[in-house]
Amino acid sequence: MDRLWSPWRSKYIESFNDKKPDREDYCLFCDTLNTPEKDEQKYVLYRGTRCYVIMNLYPYNSGHLMIVPHRHVSAFTEMTDDEYLEIMQLIRRCCEALTKTMHPHGFNVGANIGRVSGAGIEHHIHFHIVPRWRGDTNFMPVLGDTKVISEEMSKTYHKIKKHLINP
Ligand SMILES: [Zn+2]
Repeated sequence: MDRLWSPWRSKYIESFNDKKPDREDYCLFCDTLNTPEKDEQKYVLYRGTRCYVIMNLYPYNSGHLMIVPHRHVSAFTEMTDDEYLEIMQLIRRCCEALTKTMHPHGFNVGANIGRVSGAGIEHHIHFHIVPRWRGDTNFMPVLGDTKVISEEMSKTYHKIKKHLINP
């Protein structure tokens, strides 16, 4: 996979870092699961039976989504068959919604397991869906402004959500 050069990520991470509680046992994904009243604010797109779908706040590309199992597990071996099935079904549904709304030319789909792999949150497994466009490694750096990114994310959020809820 070509690594997308995304200079806005560092600015974006800085803007969120001060809000992150400094507790050892804090898990962003568990916290998000337990605060459904903040779904729009946290860009949660869809809640399933065993997993939910959320937009990545530090996106590698516009429309970068994550599928997160409700249970706080860190490895494939700890997941149940039901969780696997729902994750795969949601990957398909997300790809369909992204195709309808953003017309990407392809996707990167996968999980980073463990810190060495580049996982940002290593203790709670999650699956990335990154839409890709031909030449996107070249044009993405034009988005450098945090405000522009969050406005764009909010627009994208509502577009994708509509298609996820009514596929
Ligand atoms: Zn967790």
